[in-house]
Amino acid sequence: MLGNPIHGGLTAALECQGWRECRFCMEQKSALLPTSSLATPHTFIKLTIYKGSTMGVIQNAVKSPFFSIKSMASNQIFNQECRDCGRLDDFLCEVKRKYPDYHARPVAPFGDEQPKLLVVGLAPGIHGANATGRPFTGDYAGILLYHALYQFGYSNHPISEGQEDGLVLTACRITNAVKCLPPQNKPTGQEINTCNRYLNAEIAQMREGTVILALGSIAHQAVLKACGLKLKDASFGHNRLHRLPNSRYLVDSYHSSRYNVQTKRLTEEMFHDVFRSIAGIFDR
Ligand code: SF4
Repeated sequence: MLGNPIHGGLTAALECQGWRECRFCMEQKSALLPTSSLATPHTFIKLTIYKGSTMGVIQNAVKSPFFSIKSMASNQIFNQECRDCGRLDDFLCEVKRKYPDYHARPVAPFGDEQPKLLVVGLAPGIHGANATGRPFTGDYAGILLYHALYQFGYSNHPISEGQEDGLVLTACRITNAVKCLPPQNKPTGQEINTCNRYLNAEIAQMREGTVILALGSIAHQAVLKACGLKLKDASFGHNRLHRLPNSRYLVDSYHSSRYNVQTKRLTEEMFHDVFRSIAGIFDR
């Protein structure tokens, strides 16, 4: 139990969930605590506890309709407090110290709870998802993606600006193969494998007929692994369709990164062709 009252009576209901001291962020610790006696069982209060003081600040309240504490078992699709990759944990702490306002923790999937389309990217970008806490938001990689999602009827707005922008995805969810920011945007094979259990659980919860759009070859490989397939079972190719177990489909695209767009490896027309292919699958 926290020592002193925080914002009136709220803290009386909150139990510490075992947050640990970060090796780099010695000035503060963060925890997500369930507010089981408050509001709904799926509401979390994020607290920042400043070292040397028992006074905390309620920093952010996150309503999470489907990433509940109860799901943090073998079938969990996300854990905000995961620190299983030591190198990434260290890096996030460094980034948080340099950019205190950044999210700098694992980035949760964003979108519809029951999607027909699951978009899988590689990992958060340092000044994008890692900063804003929403996949493909805040940097170049999201521009083409969110425009396409809007044009093909999956969203109510063509631009994703941040958590409070009112953007809603319909029948679509975006996730990443690796939930934490890696140095130089390059997760190691071990980190990809360690994080794959979340993607495995997320795909396992998808209904039959779901299409998975893999942005880039690493996302493609992560999807195969999450589905229990081997890399030789399906090779990556732009706008290539693969059948997955349980009547699901995988469609590949070059990643919508700044490099790929500016070098014209991926044009808007090419990207829209991929979405037309996906629409064709749904029309079957
Ligand atoms: S990358 Fe995935 S497994 Fe590794 S620490 Fe982040 S959330 Fe956990």
